[in-house]
Amino acid sequence: MYRTHHCGALRIDDVNKKVTLSGWVQRVRKLGGMTFIDLRDRYGITQLVFDMETNAALAEQANKLGREFVVRVEGTVVERTSKNPDLPTGDIEIIIEKLDIIKASEVPPFTIEDESDGGEELRMKYRYLDIRRNPVKDALILRHKVAKAVRNYLDDNDFVEAETPYLIKSTPEGARDFVVPSRLSPGEFYALPQSPQVFKQLFMVGGLDRYYQIVKCFRDEDFRADRQPEFTQIDCEMSFVTQDEVIKMFSGMAKYIFKTVKGIEFEGDFPVMTYEEAMNSYGSDKPDLRFGMKIHQLNSVAQGKGFKVFDDAEYIGGICAEACANYSRKQLDKLIDFVKKPQIGAKGLVYVKYNEDGSFKSSVDKFYSQDDLKKWAEVFGAKPGDLILLISGEKNNSLNALNELRLEMGERLGLRDKNKFVALWVVDFPLLEWDEESKRFHAMHHPFTSPKEEDMHLLDTEAEKVRANAYDFVINGVEIGGGSIRIFDNKLQHKMFDLLGFTPEEAEAQFGFLMEAFKYGAPPHGGAAFGLDRWVALLNGSDSIRDVIAFPKNNAGRDIMMDAPAPVAKEQLEELSLSIRQNKE
Ligand code: ASP
Repeated sequence: MYRTHHCGALRIDDVNKKVTLSGWVQRVRKLGGMTFIDLRDRYGITQLVFDMETNAALAEQANKLGREFVVRVEGTVVERTSKNPDLPTGDIEIIIEKLDIIKASEVPPFTIEDESDGGEELRMKYRYLDIRRNPVKDALILRHKVAKAVRNYLDDNDFVEAETPYLIKSTPEGARDFVVPSRLSPGEFYALPQSPQVFKQLFMVGGLDRYYQIVKCFRDEDFRADRQPEFTQIDCEMSFVTQDEVIKMFSGMAKYIFKTVKGIEFEGDFPVMTYEEAMNSYGSDKPDLRFGMKIHQLNSVAQGKGFKVFDDAEYIGGICAEACANYSRKQLDKLIDFVKKPQIGAKGLVYVKYNEDGSFKSSVDKFYSQDDLKKWAEVFGAKPGDLILLISGEKNNSLNALNELRLEMGERLGLRDKNKFVALWVVDFPLLEWDEESKRFHAMHHPFTSPKEEDMHLLDTEAEKVRANAYDFVINGVEIGGGSIRIFDNKLQHKMFDLLGFTPEEAEAQFGFLMEAFKYGAPPHGGAAFGLDRWVALLNGSDSIRDVIAFPKNNAGRDIMMDAPAPVAKEQLEELSLSIRQNKE
């Protein structure tokens, strides 16, 4: 037998028991004539004791053990003289009578400790060793708990978990497809699903009523922080539902996850905010509501006083940072540099200090009187001691920069507490988005999202103004999921394809099967998908989804443990009727 107990099990009540344990050697410490070993497994650490005086041969054997050796020991549980209150097994230790080395280990390339000396790439290369560390192991267990909670909740609500294929034809989530060459159909390719979108809609046509799947999705996107080419979605679809019902169902799921996994209870409904409000008040469709600091527009109070930058601007807006009027020149300069970074793109930053004595000091004092500045302060409801920061220019760019500035100030002021969770739904997204480059509309969500009934009349005239029955779920400024009520009418779906610039032939070639399905009594339906990786990362307090993925890819999309992608053998290419073009450059 390898073990009677695992390494986290034994307590003071077990004293005098004869036990057998197996695990990894975490640490060997020699103290006088004694050798202490921390034996580790998934469940914890137990201290083993070897005594030179009572069993010299055994103690010498123990002294030779190295880090990460796999051993089996037999011994007796005794009460420790110096207890370790930080360890659940800290009241006891095991006096060892027998030691078997099951497997020696080379010295690991980094320390298997909570705070490891290994960099991220090294730990990814030896991910199986990294998984022995508590932070990684605990993240995987947390992920398991979230998945289990999801399954429990959805099962209780009559959702059926059904699988969908991975070898399919392109799906319309707007990224590039990963493709798989077909041996049996030379020159033809499968695409890996960017999501199971069309299948879940077909399940609804199939009468399954409520579907879900915890499923891998594949998107070949250019490197963007915190993306993985393969990631996991909690993918869901429901029939005969309105948007409100979908939101209610998945708000329930979110609450259930927080309650069962974190013991956190939310009171009342999650707020629902329109896209328009989110953009105007936060400059983002995924506002971080852990703190206020709303954006306010100032055009009416700030224009017409001779300050050309403002007078010429389409938009002037700002935020008010509480109790920051004491910011030094240097701190302000840092903020100016921050907003001028190319990825943020503001031309500059105007500040107004609302001094404790009630006076104002601004970077535009030449143009604005104390009374003018007071009017600005009123817009924000500012108090003495606050600092107002303004950005102007083209509206969308300015809002985008204000969003970044708001998040930066939130960070500086410690308002983005990782242990606080604030969720909301953002609704009424635009249906379409104009793309200047290709001079055509793109679906903001995907082509199956239905327009709002009341905006339908605008489809032919002002399509850009049409709002969609689409919604996103946001926690702490992170888009955790999103979905929509779908089009289930052939005519409308064809119209949508037309707006998106598909010729009838292209639409037929790509989505003919779906259009065909809609001819046979398609029920109204809608759904959503949630990013499991993001959700777990958030609950885990991780900034990167890599922390909560068992075997993640690095920033360049490579698996550095297996070293993939990798070339394939010539024979394999031949079998697939493929040849690799040699790039002359
Ligand atoms: N398929 C969508 C996505 O992956 C989610 C949905 O519309 O249900 O974002």
